[in-house]
Amino acid sequence: MMIARKITGDARTRNFSMASASSVTSVNTSVSCKNQHATAATEEPTGVPWVPDRASDECMGCQVAFSTFRRKHHCRNCGALVCSSCSRGRARLNGLEQKSRVCDICQRIDLPEGLWQEWKWSIEILCSGSRMSGWWSQVLRRNPAVHMPFEEIEARAEYFQELKSQPEIALQVFEHAVKMTQDFQQIEIDVERTFGPNSLEMQNSSRSLTYGPLIVYALRKGKTWKDIVTWKHALRRVLICYVMFQPTIGYCQGMDYIAAILLYGSNWECHHAFRLLVALMEKYDLSSVCAPGLPLLNLKFYQLDELVHYHLPELHHHLSLHGIHPNTYASGWVLTLFASFKTLHPGLVLSFFDGFFAKGWKSWFRVALAILATAQQRLLQTHTPTALIELLNHELPTLFPENDEKCREFFLLANHFKVTNAALVYFEDNFDRNSTCESTVVETYYSNRGEARAS
Ligand SMILES: [Zn+2]
Ligand SMILES: [Zn+2]
Repeated sequence: MMIARKITGDARTRNFSMASASSVTSVNTSVSCKNQHATAATEEPTGVPWVPDRASDECMGCQVAFSTFRRKHHCRNCGALVCSSCSRGRARLNGLEQKSRVCDICQRIDLPEGLWQEWKWSIEILCSGSRMSGWWSQVLRRNPAVHMPFEEIEARAEYFQELKSQPEIALQVFEHAVKMTQDFQQIEIDVERTFGPNSLEMQNSSRSLTYGPLIVYALRKGKTWKDIVTWKHALRRVLICYVMFQPTIGYCQGMDYIAAILLYGSNWECHHAFRLLVALMEKYDLSSVCAPGLPLLNLKFYQLDELVHYHLPELHHHLSLHGIHPNTYASGWVLTLFASFKTLHPGLVLSFFDGFFAKGWKSWFRVALAILATAQQRLLQTHTPTALIELLNHELPTLFPENDEKCREFFLLANHFKVTNAALVYFEDNFDRNSTCESTVVETYYSNRGEARAS
């Protein structure tokens, strides 16, 4: 049990961009050549890819046209193309000594007046015609209803403002203040990472960065650079608001990818994405997966392992023989709902979210099984634990090309796996009764990797 807990603790702080690193390469490179905006200049110190100069003739802040007198500048935090009056602020970024230019939105981060009121848990305004309305109609079918304690949130929003003016006092007065502060800091770091290219690519091309899969996908779907800048700012707001809303759960790495997908599906409407995020947490039980200590992560691994055993027995035998269990490869699948693009490209992830909002975790297990089934031949031909781990963690995207026909085939395959709630509940009961199972799995994993075990 000790070991299991240790692993879950580590998993919470794991950096998914590292884990998902090389796996998105194929997604990026295959589309970047088609997209002329895909290679970007960057300011060396902060490493944030800039919106290309030619992407906009007007300031992304005040919408006034650039001219000889109104020059183009880049926010070093989000890469936006802004005029000098919209980027007067300077901030220390990435722990750099000198301060860098930031746009007004990155400088402020505050929440507009009345936003909390606007975010009431009601259904009236949700007919945007976006993907979100479909997701939302599924949310509404689920029980139980979610209640938002608004007065409390107002108080925490006050804390957030207080924190900037008088940090010492704010830390003493507000409950959860320390954890919230840590979460805010982590969000600042992670927002850019969510959109960024993977670390391997950055190593390979020191000067010209390629954008991450989300940006490449959005540009290819005809979205503008202005949309992308809006997206980054919106992501930050949604995550900060969630921390204020539910500080005991707070921010868990992985949530950034989920919120980014929700924002895309909501046409970057913060309050829509925020509601969806809250719905995923409360109605789809994501909160028990990403709460501190990741309480349900091992259960998901256990359930997946049992399902692989049942549906793909040959593969299960092969993987078990080499000590490969879901905890070796599926933590990103659980914590980001496949949205880290470690395995599936953004198009597939959006379709997965359609299924997840409709069917919940059953559809997650089906997709996980479909991924393994697609990779089955290659996995069976691989005979060392290291090569298997490498394949599962880095090489899967090559098996899922961005192609509508393949996408349909993939979901047909996924739906062919029978996963019932009854089976999941049965495994859950089993998991509770034999809590030693998990540590056996974890121990096998560690002994195979030759890593030191915590006692
Ligand atoms: Zn401006
Ligand atoms: Zn900015």
